[in-house]
Parts: sequence; C-alpha cells; structure tokens
Amino acid sequence: MQNDTMTLTPLPLVADDLSWQEDALCAQAGPEFFFPAPGSSTREAKLLCGACEGRIACLEYALTHDERFGVWGGLSEKERIRLKRRRG
Ligand code: SF4
Repeated sequence: MQNDTMTLTPLPLVADDLSWQEDALCAQAGPEFFFPAPGSSTREAKLLCGACEGRIACLEYALTHDERFGVWGGLSEKERIRLKRRRG
C-alpha cells in the first residue's frame, strides 16, 4: 500500500567543525596568555597564533560565535570587531 503522506526528513544538524582545536597551540599555554587582563599585552598570544595551523578556522569560529573576550585566531576583541565591520 502506498503512503500518500509526504515524509519530511529533517536535515541533519551541522555541527561546528572543531577539529582545529585538536592542534590548538594555545592549549599548551596558559589562559592568561589568551585572556589577558585589560590593558595587558596580547603580543605573545598573537605570536603563538601566527604559528598555529588552526588560526583561520579559529578566527572564523570566534567571529561566527561572537566571542567577545580574548585573542582568537591572532586577533584581539577590538581587531575582531573592526574586521566584522569591514566585512559588513
Ligand atoms: S589561532 Fe591562537 S587562539 Fe586560535 S587555536 Fe591557534 S593558538 Fe589558539
């Protein structure tokens, strides 16, 4: 017997690809590097990000999830805000 009811298959939820976190260099450094006190230098964190293979994915994750604090993908909060504005 044929079923006249249209079956809707839900689309699978697309989980964020977080594989870049497996090689995150910041996991080997202290959180104080990446979440420095206001006014503290972010230089060391940015240097580490520059050598991190997941930098681009990390930055996109931070932009997508509106991460407000800390250094992500080599950019500070203010730098990410500026980048988002430039992208529109
Ligand atoms: S780019 Fe920087 S903040 Fe992002 S995972 Fe790499 S080291 Fe961590």
